[in-house]
Amino acid sequence: MLRYFNDILMGLWSLIIGMGITFREFFKPKVTLLYPHQSVKMPARYRGHVELIPDDEGQPLCVVCGMCEKACPSNCISISGEKPEGSKRKVLTSYILDFTKCSLCGSCVDSCNFGAIRYTKEYNLASTRKEDYHFDLLKRLEESKK
Ligand code: SF4
Ligand code: SF4
Repeated sequence: MLRYFNDILMGLWSLIIGMGITFREFFKPKVTLLYPHQSVKMPARYRGHVELIPDDEGQPLCVVCGMCEKACPSNCISISGEKPEGSKRKVLTSYILDFTKCSLCGSCVDSCNFGAIRYTKEYNLASTRKEDYHFDLLKRLEESKK
């Protein structure tokens, strides 16, 4: 008989402890998100694929020096540019990044003396098609202005 009441008391005690923990957690800040409806804020040091940095007028800061292309150990970058009549500097006409081969080593960003490329905070890429990871960075820059 004593054991019977003892078990009931132990059960009640364990219920109180459990409810106490639930109650405490209930008022703590949320650490989960309603993914994919909400997006995660990535930390400052996070490396997504690289992107072009625009100047104040929205044009790429890139001067088509080719250093990033040369520095990439995986040959991910293909750039081209042209020098318009009367202009002193080259204008970027194409910047293609093959992200299927990129190891996010950072050599391209480090080699750019013009601060023209940076890592994105992109973490949400998903596709079964390789072509979807061949990024036209100039086109992306244009689209980001809209
Ligand atoms: S992060 Fe490294 S592998 Fe990726 S494009 Fe830049 S240099 Fe190439
Ligand atoms: S190193 Fe910088 S400036 Fe030179 S081509 Fe690459 S992104 Fe452009």
